[in-house]
Amino acid sequence: MKILVLNCGSSSLKYQVIDMDTRNPIAKGLVERIGNQGAVLTHCTALQEKEIVKTEIENHTKAIELVLKQLVAPETGAIKDLKEIYAIGHRVVHGGEKFAKSVIIDDSVMQALKDCIELAPLHNPPNIAGIQACQKMMPGIPQVAVFDTAFHQTMKPSSYIYGLPYEYYEKYGIRKYGFHGTSHKYVSQRAAILLKKPIEDLKIISCHLGNGASIAAIRGGRSVETSMGFTPLDGLLMGTRSGALDPAVVTYIMCRQNFTVDQMNDFLNSKCGALGVSGISSDFRDIEVAAEQGNMRAQLALDIFEHDVKQFIGSYAAVMGGVDALIFTAGVGENSVSMRASVCKNMSYLGINLDLEKNKVRGEEVDVSQANSRCSVLVIPTNEELMIALDTLELTK
Ligand code: ADP
Repeated sequence: MKILVLNCGSSSLKYQVIDMDTRNPIAKGLVERIGNQGAVLTHCTALQEKEIVKTEIENHTKAIELVLKQLVAPETGAIKDLKEIYAIGHRVVHGGEKFAKSVIIDDSVMQALKDCIELAPLHNPPNIAGIQACQKMMPGIPQVAVFDTAFHQTMKPSSYIYGLPYEYYEKYGIRKYGFHGTSHKYVSQRAAILLKKPIEDLKIISCHLGNGASIAAIRGGRSVETSMGFTPLDGLLMGTRSGALDPAVVTYIMCRQNFTVDQMNDFLNSKCGALGVSGISSDFRDIEVAAEQGNMRAQLALDIFEHDVKQFIGSYAAVMGGVDALIFTAGVGENSVSMRASVCKNMSYLGINLDLEKNKVRGEEVDVSQANSRCSVLVIPTNEELMIALDTLELTK
């Protein structure tokens, strides 16, 4: 049984076809620069053969058309006929308060997604365009929406209501939603399997540290706290996002720089974070290299990131009354040996004792804590696509 997983970004489209018998992708790829000059499709087969197609791709409909053509190409295609696709799973960024679980897409769900556009103006429109393109090109094949926000809908009001007049929550939906839910859910479920314990008995802190980064406190398999907020801008310093700030900084910069609302939004999302502090790059690999060569601002960006991660771990352990497992996932979490080591330094008061030898891994599912560590430290590569495919299969079977 094959599931197509689609992740439509504002100018990109990531896709995988997953064979649910083996749970492995039989094809995957990425379309970049949709709607811009120099659009390109990079398609990979199960044998890791790469094919690059450069052509004009005006919109998501065209991008999906191109991907589907690639999937059934006579020589290199992963499938013979689109009818082999059993169902389609879409990553949808924002489901507001309407969706605490994945859902089969019908007219009422489409309307609800449109209602959420105000909450996620950059993310939800391409998700909707992707769904509509599939409805047109693969009619009759069931589609499922899997939301980044859904997993965090278990938070209590005391965790998600901001210190604003309550009417702003009622009128505008301003509250903490949290993101990366599919990833936090996947790695926490994997952690329970690795530790051979029921998830209901575990207090987990999951650190999704990529270009976008968030941390979640997961008690008994349910998200109770998370670092991203109303938008993905909140929480940790990230590749290009500022993370949490004194809100007065926003109005102050707008006045001093004469920024419009859109300019300020763009500034906070794409010119700040590790890029802004280091002045070098948003990519943690570049920043680590520069820091090793003695660049002080690169070192400062790494120090802030480590400090932020540590601070959230401490506060989430306080909220849950302890922690049984600490998970590192996503680009930095899975690969940066030094970042994991510095985050876990001096944390034995929480029962966190990293084994520095075991920690020398990249991108593997491993317990990297010392044998006597009260809290397990786990590296778990995230797999949002598989999680989306599993939800899609469960709902459509
Ligand atoms: P996203 O999905 O949010 O774009 P990823 O989870 O792919 O992000 O993570 C990308 C980040 O991971 C980049 O900043 C990259 O530098 C970092 N990264 C990848 N490999 C390493 C590594 N070996 N050491 C340090 N950072 C790494």
